[in-house]
Amino acid sequence: MSMIGIKKVTKVFNPGRPNETTALKEVSLRIEEGELVVLKGPSGSGKSTLLGLIAALQKPSYGEVVVAGEPVSRFSEDFAALYRRHTIGFIFQKFNLIPTLSVEENILTPLLPEGMEENKLHERAARVMAEFSIAHKAKERVKNLSGGEQQRTAIARALVNDPPILLADEPTANLDAALSKNFVEYLRRIKAEGKTIVVATHDPIFFGLDFVDREIEIRNGTIRNEQ
Ligand code: ADP
Repeated sequence: MSMIGIKKVTKVFNPGRPNETTALKEVSLRIEEGELVVLKGPSGSGKSTLLGLIAALQKPSYGEVVVAGEPVSRFSEDFAALYRRHTIGFIFQKFNLIPTLSVEENILTPLLPEGMEENKLHERAARVMAEFSIAHKAKERVKNLSGGEQQRTAIARALVNDPPILLADEPTANLDAALSKNFVEYLRRIKAEGKTIVVATHDPIFFGLDFVDREIEIRNGTIRNEQ
């Protein structure tokens, strides 16, 4: 069984309106457990839309998305939110951290709806903060952090729930060359932990890496080199 199955998915935004856009056209794709896939293509090709469908943030217009055997594209809103919390870690281009909260508070946000004991919460945060070398800034507000520290906080937040799937949308778009290289090394480590990973990017730093299993090219909502 594949970890992620995209089955003949078409996504039309604003159907029937003058601004109707077909973001994905009959895309089919299977991603196996533990696989790292780089989804590449120019801006506007449909990469974010595909990640949004895997995360059940969006529903396909046609077709189906199955994750770990579950038809996530048919989940209700509440169920989709629960699914995201347990199954998906998301790293965004602009980190999407809350600047006035501390590093630890930001990292804990995905865990709060779980109603976990205080001790356990701090234990979880401590584990990922140590892994991504940000524990010394636990109480610092995010707005006072360097770009690299914000990057590590965003990665720690995405992984605090220990989700089996990590999705990253243009993760290096706002990073300089050195931080982009660091991100690639973090990715190598996360892949070694057995996570299934999809990175949507047009940054050539991700192309030809030895630990990437597949590069898939998407153009105008169509996958070109699906193997
Ligand atoms: P990429 O991530 O490759 O840059 P996107 O998936 O963001 O591409 O966008 C694919 C196409 O769908 C683009 O034409 C974009 O304008 C359109 N699109 C994406 N999201 C929306 C939305 N929420 N409403 C309307 N059109 C959208």
